Order: sequence, then structure tokens, then C-alpha cells
Amino acid sequence: MNLEVPNKFKGVLKTAYTAAEVLLRPISRKYDVGEHTYPKELDILAAALSGANNASGGAIGGATSSREKEIPGAKKVLKNGGNMANCLNIQGISYGDVGLLLSFPGQGLGNAAIAAVSNDEQLKKFGKMWAAMAITEPNVGSDSAAITTTARKEGNNYILNGEKIFVTSGERADCVVVWATLDKGIGRAAIKSFIVLRSNLGMKLERVEKKLGIRASDTAAFVLTDCVVPGTDLLGNPEIDVKKGFGGVMETFDNTRPFVAAMALGCMQAAIERTREILSEKINLKDHKTPINKLKAAQAQFYRMEADYEAARLLVLRAAWMADNKVPNSMEASICKAKAGRVGVEITLKCVELCSSLGYSYKELLEKWGRDSKILDIFEGTQQIQQLIIARRMLGKGSSELK
Ligand SMILES: Cc1cc2nc3c(=O)[nH]c(=O)nc-3n(C[C@H](O)[C@H](O)[C@H](O)COP(=O)(O)OP(=O)(O)OC[C@H]3O[C@@H](n4cnc5c(N)ncnc54)[C@H](O)[C@@H]3O)c2cc1C
Repeated sequence: MNLEVPNKFKGVLKTAYTAAEVLLRPISRKYDVGEHTYPKELDILAAALSGANNASGGAIGGATSSREKEIPGAKKVLKNGGNMANCLNIQGISYGDVGLLLSFPGQGLGNAAIAAVSNDEQLKKFGKMWAAMAITEPNVGSDSAAITTTARKEGNNYILNGEKIFVTSGERADCVVVWATLDKGIGRAAIKSFIVLRSNLGMKLERVEKKLGIRASDTAAFVLTDCVVPGTDLLGNPEIDVKKGFGGVMETFDNTRPFVAAMALGCMQAAIERTREILSEKINLKDHKTPINKLKAAQAQFYRMEADYEAARLLVLRAAWMADNKVPNSMEASICKAKAGRVGVEITLKCVELCSSLGYSYKELLEKWGRDSKILDIFEGTQQIQQLIIARRMLGKGSSELK
């Protein structure tokens, strides 16, 4: 494994970090304070960045590489593709502001699902739309197999009924990929995802949530009442395949969990660099030669943070590289999210601690990066759920055996 950033992605990375510093940081506090205000500056930036991404074969948040087709008989070449590009890019943009990254038009979790499992007609119809993803319900979070939103087949349509909460971009996105069950009695195999247009009369926005962090990103709750969805807008196989179970819908997360981990990397990197700058007059934080037993406590803590950051970064790159090379990566995707999610919170808060009153104040963004980091250890599977997935994979146990 070559640990250098591949040459072909260096341009994209430069664009991402420049955008982070020049465009996002200056508006970061404005949209943190102005929660729920749409960051209109992103429209211009999204257009510029999507041009850069297209050149590298990636997108900011939508997984593209999973659609790449195998050519029968072709020689297998190890490659760095769309997943690797996305992770690098996402880290760069999150270094600027992760709440703004999540507000980029067209970069929802639903876009990743559409990119991964849509057919050609669906891709043509929805590929350019901004798609959110709605799994969570008032009584269903981590245990997504227990969802109660129903989908009933009626002629050529499905009729959806239920309530969805905490939907990222649920207010701003053009459509939402909604998880619903065709038959509650059958369990996880009956769960399918449906692309529902926000303009659909059966979909009613209930509220947007006020939150601890990522305040630039809108998080919405909505109700589906006899919401009519054309049968052709069901993603994946419409048949209930009890043998395959949940596999199909869950596979999207193998691509997207490294993206969330990359968001945590961006926040950590921002906090570590700013802390080094703030403390540089009082303490040398670039002394990597002195033995640990001769360092000041603050120095030792700082170097430990750097090591944790680097470990998380390498785990993210491994999971992305595996996805690009079609190597099954469920466990590695969870490992990188668990590590980056956990140390992301620890590191950003440690940076607040090391800079103390300045770290806690609105003069700096350190306290914001601490607040923003917590969600990255919650959504797309909490810390505990990632550990459960890792344990199941390591012990060779299924979800019914290890809960
Ligand atoms: C800002 C924000 C944005 C979000 N965006 C989206 C989105 O776009 N789409 C979407 O569908 N959802 C979204 N969510 C919801 C998010 O995915 C859920 O909050 C998350 O899955 C956890 O579910 P829960 O909050 O119901 O907690 P619960 O599942 O009730 O868990 C509560 C606690 O128990 C722990 N726990 C649960 N089960 C186990 C177990 N088996 N073993 C050990 N510990 C366990 C959890 O780790 C957690 O600490 C968002 C949430 C927030 C806050």
C-alpha cells in the first residue's frame, strides 16, 4: 500500500483545501449562528467543485465507483477510484466546515444510495437531483430493521404511510430515499427504499430540528400520508428475497461510512492545526524527537492526538481503497468510522481544553468543531453499533446471534 496521496487526486485536494480556507471558514460562524438559513454561497462553490470532481471521477458525497462495471476477462488493476477521491475531498471540505459540507446541494446520503443501486432509468431521472435519506422514525433508530413506515402496492404505484425524523437535508433536498416495509410480518427482507419527491402531496414537512452542532445543515421531520410513489421509483429488487435479507439496502453504508469518518478527519485536522498555532508561542508542538518521559504533559497529549488522527486517517483510506477495488469492506468501513468518530470527539474537545478559555469562546472555531464532531459518531450508525458490526464480523455471527 502506497501511503502517498495519488497524483491524480492532488489537484482535487488542493481545490478542496483552498475552498475550505478561503470560502468556508469565513462564513462558518455566520451559518452556525444563523441556524436553518440556507448558505447561498454554496451554490457557486458547488458548481465549481463539481467541475473539479468530475475531472477526478468523484463527487463530494455521492458514491460513484460502485456503478463502475467489471469488464469480463479484463486484467485486474489495483486502483484508487471514486471512493478514495471522495474521502480526500470530504476531509478537505470538512476542514473548512462540516455543516456546510452537509449543506452542499446534490450531496445527500440519498445520492449515494441512488448512485449505488439505481437502474439506468432511475439514474437518468434522479441522478442530478439532491436526495436525502430517511430511515429513522420516532421509535426506530439504531435498529433500522424495525422500521414501521409501510409501502402498499396498488396497481402500478406504492402507497407510503409513516413518520420520519432527523432527516439530513430533509427540507432542502429535491427528493428523499425513504425506507419502508412491504410487510411488517416478514422482517428485514421486506424493507425497500423508495425515491419520493419532496413536491409529492403526501409528504408533509413537520419541523426542522435545532441542534448542538452542524447547524448549517437542515435536519427535518416529515409525515407520509397515502403518499403515492410510482412503482418504477423503488430502488433495487422489488421482490422480497428472504435469503438475501437486508444485504441490498445496507450495502450503501459500506461506501458512505468512510465518508462520515473522513468528515471527522477534517474536523480533527482543523482543531489540531489551530491548537498548534495558538499554543506555539508558549510551547513547542513540533518536537517529535524528545522521549515521552521528558515531555511536558500538554506536549505528550498533543502528540497522542496526532497519532490517533493519523491512525484514523489510514483506516479511512484502507476502507475507501477496498471499496474502489471491490474488496468486501463492511468490517473495515465500521472500523474506520468507529475510530474516527470516537477520536474525532476526543481530539476536538482536547483542543478546546488545551486552549482553555480561548478554545471555549466564540473568538475561535475550536468549540464549534467540538460540537460538530459529536454527530459524526452518531449518524450512519453510532459508535456502539459500529462495534457491534465489527464484533459480528470477527466472530462470524449474524445479527440474530449477537444483538
Ligand atoms: C443531526 C442528525 C442528523 C441525522 N440525519 C439522519 C438522516 O439523514 N437519515 C436518517 O435516517 N437518520 C438520521 N439521523 C438519525 C441517526 O442516524 C440516529 O440518531 C442514530 O441511528 C441513532 O438512533 P437513535 O437516535 O434512535 O438512538 P438509539 O438507537 O435509540 O440508541 C440510543 C443509544 O443506545 C445505543 N445502542 C442502541 N442499540 C444498541 C445495541 N444493540 N448495543 C449497544 N448499544 C446500543 C446507541 O449507540 C445510542 O448510544 C440523524 C440524527 C441527527 C442527530
